[in-house]
Amino acid sequence: MVQLKSPTEIDQMRTACKIVGQILVEIEELVKPGVSTADLDLFCQTRTKELGAKPAFKGYHGFPATLCVSVNEEVVHGIPSKKRILKSGDIVGCDFGVIYNGWYGDSAKTFRVGEVTDSAMKLIEATRKSLYLGIEQCIVGSHLFNIGHAVQNYVESLGYSVVREFVGHGIGRSLHEDPQVPNFGARGKGMLLKPGMVLAIEPMINMGSPEVKVLSDGWTAVTVDRKYSAHFEHTVAITENGYEILTQV
Ligand code: MG
Ligand code: MG
Repeated sequence: MVQLKSPTEIDQMRTACKIVGQILVEIEELVKPGVSTADLDLFCQTRTKELGAKPAFKGYHGFPATLCVSVNEEVVHGIPSKKRILKSGDIVGCDFGVIYNGWYGDSAKTFRVGEVTDSAMKLIEATRKSLYLGIEQCIVGSHLFNIGHAVQNYVESLGYSVVREFVGHGIGRSLHEDPQVPNFGARGKGMLLKPGMVLAIEPMINMGSPEVKVLSDGWTAVTVDRKYSAHFEHTVAITENGYEILTQV
């Protein structure tokens, strides 16, 4: 069942979402060759506490960290490690969420580390753009799958593929609420979007084939062909007047 949020509740969600957006902006400064993925996690832990929030992912179904860090062929849910040192040419997806006053915010960005290939940069830019094309479909009376259709149509036109196994979601007093928000689908299908829906839209786009698998750590999803994957996410509120990207700072 979709939990619609009142304007007051959306206002309350804004704080959690701004904290997430702010920390993701700050973390970009740290993403450099020589930094470990555990360093990024520690930074998020510290800043979350300083801003009076709680990590949303730590302990969620047993996830061991504050930040999901997914490097190169890792798609999502990478576990930070002191042993994983970033190097020039890597791309690093940082997926981050907090709880503030009982409300969740969730957002992700993919950063380049040092100098990356043109093809890696193009994948990052296309994934970012696909997120915004999806968000533009968040209009009252539009169909839910128009979001995924816009994402899929754009990235497939560039020769990329859309991950099917992981999707976006409603968000509010829980991290994952109804409805699921796939990054693929047919225009004109799916439920009608209503004011008060708050959706975490999160395209995961692969340079090669769409197949992914989960590693033996039980969390890290990687592309089966080991080609790069990128991920962007925003928490978006649908209102009478359009949409508001709550995690944008
Ligand atoms: Mg996320
Ligand atoms: Mg999410």
